[in-house]
Amino acid sequence: MARIKEPKTRHRQGAEFKPRAVMAELRKPELKVFIATRESSCDECGEALGTRAWITLAGERGARCLACADLEHLVFLPSGEAAFTRRARGHSVLWAVVLKWSRARKRYERQGLLVEEAALRLAEGECLADDDARRRRRVREAERRSALDREYVQGFAARVREVFPSSPKGTERKVAEHACLKYSGRVGRSASAKVFARQAVELAVAAHVRHVHTRYDELLSQGVDRHDARTMVAGEVATILESWEHA
Ligand SMILES: [Zn+2]
Repeated sequence: MARIKEPKTRHRQGAEFKPRAVMAELRKPELKVFIATRESSCDECGEALGTRAWITLAGERGARCLACADLEHLVFLPSGEAAFTRRARGHSVLWAVVLKWSRARKRYERQGLLVEEAALRLAEGECLADDDARRRRRVREAERRSALDREYVQGFAARVREVFPSSPKGTERKVAEHACLKYSGRVGRSASAKVFARQAVELAVAAHVRHVHTRYDELLSQGVDRHDARTMVAGEVATILESWEHA
């Protein structure tokens, strides 16, 4: 039950007249993220996403927020630099096209790609001779830093290290930075006590393990349903978490 008003309306109107270009765009075997143009909510976690939310559409199961679609760790690379985009996509195991409905042109238009941050760095490394890439990285890193609340990251990282003392060095920082980016926009600081709870730490670390230490992202990129993909890597994730738990 999608509660995205616009696509619904559009489908109703356009069932017979949907232009070929629209159908072609929708049929391409890529993961797609849509920028909603109306008020929407996630059919999985129920969260109200406001207007202009970034969502995925999963057929009958409706809309999912990026967190529920497990795409939230990806970073947005706007269209415009074809060579750079190609490189970043090439290095990304998991990536998605970001589409927005154009009322004027009556078709979806590509806004850019969601790619892995590591892929972005690799692509940048390849173009480092280029002053432009340097400038781009500075801008992006400044944006990232401003989004991160230092205290929050340190606190969360300390909790990760406490709960998973044998996790590889640096794990706590990666997990904490991601959690900070995720919660800063959604939950706000008043709820930070809640997100420091053991369960929140375990969930954040499990997500990290899935994305970084298993084939999970590869499975998603091949179009495997998220639930199936999770089941396939669940044993592996549990084993890794258990080994990290013991000092
Ligand atoms: Zn959700």
